[in-house]
Amino acid sequence: MTLPVARTRDEALLYLDLTPCACGSVETPWESGVVGVAEQLAVAYAGTCADCGAGREYVFALPERETAPKGWPTFGGPEPSQLIDAGEWLWVADQWASSVPPDPEEGARALAMARAAVEEVLKFVPDGADRVPDQAFWADRGLRVYTAEPGRFRVERLLLVKDAYRDA
Ligand SMILES: [Zn+2]
Repeated sequence: MTLPVARTRDEALLYLDLTPCACGSVETPWESGVVGVAEQLAVAYAGTCADCGAGREYVFALPERETAPKGWPTFGGPEPSQLIDAGEWLWVADQWASSVPPDPEEGARALAMARAAVEEVLKFVPDGADRVPDQAFWADRGLRVYTAEPGRFRVERLLLVKDAYRDA
């Protein structure tokens, strides 16, 4: 069994937010701990769904090299995500950028999140390529975002969006 790598805690928690319980709820207070799986160290997130009471558990591999958190959010190093696909990252960016709270501090956090999510989309682009490759999309939600407007995944456009969130 190959476990997907969660590069950082921020990434694991975002993935869990994007992954509802069978009842549809994402309200689960998570506890995490390091576990051994097939002689490999991994991180387990476990909790009880606040809405239906189901026990939930997700296990992620630790990254080969740890990424030191540099402010919030830190989703990972330069390597692309194994948990969240390129379309989902852009979906996350859209969510945060479309509901920026009026409070300056909270607003800055929302834009930091949106900008970091766009940076994650760009990590899927191989050197010299001008768009996100097809294999960067594997989740239903991500594929929907991609097919709705593939042009949004051109590097040129992603960089413009990222700058716009920085300057906002
Ligand atoms: Zn539930």
